[in-house]
Amino acid sequence: MRTRVHLVNPSNTAFGTAVITPRWLYVLAGATPSAFGDPNLVDETLEQSTPSMFGPGDIVGIGIHTANALRGYEVGRAARERGASVVFGGIHASLYPEEAHERGGAHAVVTGDGEGVWPAVLSDCASGTPSRIYDGGKVRGQGFVAARWDLLPRNKYMWASVQTVRGCPKHCSFCSVWRTDGQEPRIRSSEAVVREVVELRRMGFRFIALADDNFYPVTLNDLAMAARRADPARLTALEAIREERFDLMRRLAQLPDDLIFFTQITMEAAEDPEFLTAMKKARIAGALVGVESVTPEGLKAIYKDFNFAGEALVERLRRFRAHGVHVLGSFIFGLPTDQDATFEATLDLAKRADLTFAQFVTLTPFPGTVDFARWEASLAGREPRVLDIPVTRHWLIPYDHRPKLYTPHPTMTPEQIRRRTQEVWDRFYSIGEVWRRARCVRSLKARLAFVLISKLYRQMYANTGISTDSARTNRASRWARWLARPCRRLFMARPMPDLAVPG
Ligand code: SF4
Repeated sequence: MRTRVHLVNPSNTAFGTAVITPRWLYVLAGATPSAFGDPNLVDETLEQSTPSMFGPGDIVGIGIHTANALRGYEVGRAARERGASVVFGGIHASLYPEEAHERGGAHAVVTGDGEGVWPAVLSDCASGTPSRIYDGGKVRGQGFVAARWDLLPRNKYMWASVQTVRGCPKHCSFCSVWRTDGQEPRIRSSEAVVREVVELRRMGFRFIALADDNFYPVTLNDLAMAARRADPARLTALEAIREERFDLMRRLAQLPDDLIFFTQITMEAAEDPEFLTAMKKARIAGALVGVESVTPEGLKAIYKDFNFAGEALVERLRRFRAHGVHVLGSFIFGLPTDQDATFEATLDLAKRADLTFAQFVTLTPFPGTVDFARWEASLAGREPRVLDIPVTRHWLIPYDHRPKLYTPHPTMTPEQIRRRTQEVWDRFYSIGEVWRRARCVRSLKARLAFVLISKLYRQMYANTGISTDSARTNRASRWARWLARPCRRLFMARPMPDLAVPG
């Protein structure tokens, strides 16, 4: 009997339809040697797995980040009980490999990038000799494996995802990316990126997320600083990265003009009109920009003082829109410098800065970040406990009992911060505000679609994320399920099976 390989993307909430394809599933499928056959891909944001899916001799790969680790461990234990070999990977497993062994029934854990070592892991599991830990290291850009999009279930996702670069040179204190993916950008060849985009457009995807840590890894400031150094090697390397970005954007611009891309960049791109113009030509129509805080003190507290604050911030954000790039602004509430007035000021700024979408998250110390290390050290030996689990291991607390906020604030209670955050979501996404922002598209049909998508976004991310009221959370999940299906149709286009890769 042939070993069956399963890859599971765990999730506690399933919506039946998902916004973005979980890229790692399809990349690991691409790294699976053909001798193992096509892996069974299970994305639990669509439907949850059941233990009966797994059998003796199967190999079950589970990728976890901190937020879905607990569900991942549940799946791992169930698979092990059924006689399968269980392998964990992903950011969280890289940070806490022993935890996956203790709680998730792991036979093996892969730390770092998975695609390089995956064939060896499978072969060892199949012969019954898995190692406890595999170090996948950092795969170079040229070694990134193409995703197996031919395995994608039809009619389930709104956006496809393609990666063009891993790593980020910044060092924000609340973010683990620069530590786990490294600060040296690892750039994938534009040829490989374009080939994947063409494959997805052939299937009918016209919205594609460039799932990068930071699409703008070299700023004008970086170049100016490198130019001042005696050794020109650094400047040459940075210029090569920048030129590669432009080359990719030139190639994307040659693809069918109904394609729309979305990415993540830092606000410094607003200083670079040449880059923004190239984005517009490449139809990179939107970007998540981490604004985080609207005050200089808040930015300093999270090591993000390369961002602007106040009126300068409004002006920088408007520059994106002036160049045809819509912004999804991301804000954090609960920073020690936040005050009661910060909520209103943030909402006001988000409205005035021409943001198309916004998200408001509460400060959560995630492992692998500077904030987490500081917080853990500050509590050493006297951590509050929930169900006997220290809050410094908050991802192990069952979802229903998990506090919504962990770090004490000098002037506000956690409940005050949570409630004010919820209010900001509600007001930014009120029907009047959404309709006003819908003016960014022309036809009535497009405006209605904009309203639908804005509402879906809020249901999926705000009402299920920060609400403490389980009735509200359940209602939001039901709404999101119901809204997601018609929304998906708005994103798809007629397939173009004959589309060629531009020369
Ligand atoms: S938050 Fe963004 S800019 Fe900051 S380190 Fe993380 S990926 Fe880089």
